Amino acid sequence: MASDMTNARSPKDRGSVDQDQFLTILSREDASARFEAALFPRAIPSEQRLLSDALGCALAEDIVAPIDVPPFDRSNVDGFAVRSADLASATEATPVRIMLNDEVIACGTAPTRPVLSGTATSIATGGPVPRGADAIVMVEHTQPAGPRAIEIRRAASPGQFVSYAGSDIARGEALLRAGTMIGSREIGMCAACGIARIPVARRPRVAVISTGDELVQPGQPLWPAAIYDTNGAIVASAVNENGGDAVFLGAIADDEEQLEAAMRKALQASDMLVLSGGTSKGAGDVSHRIIARLGKPGIIAHGVALKPGKPLCLAVCDGKPVVILPGFPTSAMFTFHDMIVPVLRRMAGLPPRSDAKVTAKVPVRIASELGRTEFVMVSLVEGDQGLIAYPSGKGSGAITSFAQADGFLRIDALADQMPAGTEAEVTLFTPHVRVPDLVIVGSHCTGLDLVTAPLARAGLSVRSIAVGSLGGLAAARRGECDFAPIHLFDEATESYNTPFLMAGLELVQGWRRMQGIVFRVGDARFEGLNAQDAVAAALADASCIMVNRNQGAGTRILIDRLLGEARPDGYWNQPRSHNAVAAAVAQHRADWGLTIAPVAHAAGLGFIPLAEEHYDFALVTARKQRPAVQAFLEALASEESRAALERAGFRPA
Ligand code: AMP
Ligand code: MG
Repeated sequence: MASDMTNARSPKDRGSVDQDQFLTILSREDASARFEAALFPRAIPSEQRLLSDALGCALAEDIVAPIDVPPFDRSNVDGFAVRSADLASATEATPVRIMLNDEVIACGTAPTRPVLSGTATSIATGGPVPRGADAIVMVEHTQPAGPRAIEIRRAASPGQFVSYAGSDIARGEALLRAGTMIGSREIGMCAACGIARIPVARRPRVAVISTGDELVQPGQPLWPAAIYDTNGAIVASAVNENGGDAVFLGAIADDEEQLEAAMRKALQASDMLVLSGGTSKGAGDVSHRIIARLGKPGIIAHGVALKPGKPLCLAVCDGKPVVILPGFPTSAMFTFHDMIVPVLRRMAGLPPRSDAKVTAKVPVRIASELGRTEFVMVSLVEGDQGLIAYPSGKGSGAITSFAQADGFLRIDALADQMPAGTEAEVTLFTPHVRVPDLVIVGSHCTGLDLVTAPLARAGLSVRSIAVGSLGGLAAARRGECDFAPIHLFDEATESYNTPFLMAGLELVQGWRRMQGIVFRVGDARFEGLNAQDAVAAALADASCIMVNRNQGAGTRILIDRLLGEARPDGYWNQPRSHNAVAAAVAQHRADWGLTIAPVAHAAGLGFIPLAEEHYDFALVTARKQRPAVQAFLEALASEESRAALERAGFRPA
């Protein structure tokens, strides 16, 4: 069990407190400092690698240039190698006639004759400048003047069009410093100096193990109550992104003997071991007990004042770091990036990651628990005055929020909030984040993907952030998005959406979604009835369980109207999405609920239509001329998306 609660603490006792679940809770800063003190300083093993294998490695030692580049004085143009003094008097009116030497210096040809006064030698770009010459005259600035002679009508300054030996890289100069990450530029610099192998830090081998009886590897079928192993894949790839060589060893059941055998074997063959799950002190959680037997000094921190991520366990066993990340994928990700990546990079000889941090403004106040360092997932969008970081956390269990999030920000343990307008540092999950061309913030609908498909094909990136209709309107008013999709019913006017628009927003009609009763095909209580009769039948059967929707959802208004005063079993089950309603019915946790037709059909469920809801877009007028907005409007009106919407069960306006 990974319960993730902690007692709020006053800022004074920041070090550690006693608590029954974890003996000692360390602050993030304390835990990191102790972990690093147990690991560093340490020798970083290095190896010689061929240039072609060194991409992405960290250079282990300084490299000194063994030769000059270029290795000789070289011509930069096609022309003639001359003595500049010969041309001192050359003008348009008084051309100077120069005799040509009997050789042509092509690239790769060493000169054999000196350039004596009154002579010149024909030379190609890249050719070595011959003895005696001190400048090059471009061929365009000369004219043939009889056999083996040219005429020149302008003076040449000494050194003109000559690259001197060592002007690019000088022999003996520090070419690259230890710790440099090797990219194509660095490889090119070594190649120019003739270096074929370079000393690089050996990439640490990092064994990755997932733990949990419930885990199934992607590609295998899920059994009831099983989930896919997410952490294994994420952690292994994040290790590779940060200078390590991950060796993923699969998921191991919560069995002390099996797990201990796997951990011992993994540790023997690697420089670091990263597990996830099983770190709380629940009955099935055994990995931390095993660590205590693996080597000295053992556990450094078990329980860190993080939210989420409190169960994090940091250990060092005979010099090798052993980490147990919390089981929830988002918690695993935060703690890995924030506290493990710096250690991994140091072991890999790499500097702290600079490409994975950006500064962005937080548009809304974020409340935070005092006493714990809090991680908040954010999506980045381009605002009028720079980057905006939209908090998009959905709780520590949600992998789905990764899909929308670009990274996370951190709120200090001593702060009880991050005020709106804060310029926060955001740690990116991967550095190649691209700020979207079109930003849609509001209510989510599967139909949206059908309309944005042509934009994606045209190379425009679209970000849609699901915050509900009202949240979308607020974002639109602050100018943080292009469109806010909304489906809000106004009871006073009995109409949709228009009454909710504010100044600066205009309505773009979207499509209609049929809402109705969802049930399992073949359930005689519903089959063939209309909505009112179906609800009456459900209410008449005490064993019939419903699934409701959250307060504030458009669908909830319809349900309340249907139910009147009735509060049937299941009323208090109030999920926040159409899909959750369909899943509850499909999995027999409920017998009926209200959802939209496309969702019911996609889940293979029966459906009784009830009422159509209007899903429209509040467009921020000031952003109307943006190319991506125009592209979206075109896509919305196109025959292609209208047909796709209809096929999916929507009715375009
Ligand atoms: P635990 O710390 O093992 O109690 O796990 C806490 C939560 O994270 C449980 O809901 C687990 O099912 C989930 N979890 C643990 N490991 C993984 C994993 N590798 N992939 C996805 N979810 C996981
Ligand atoms: Mg577990």
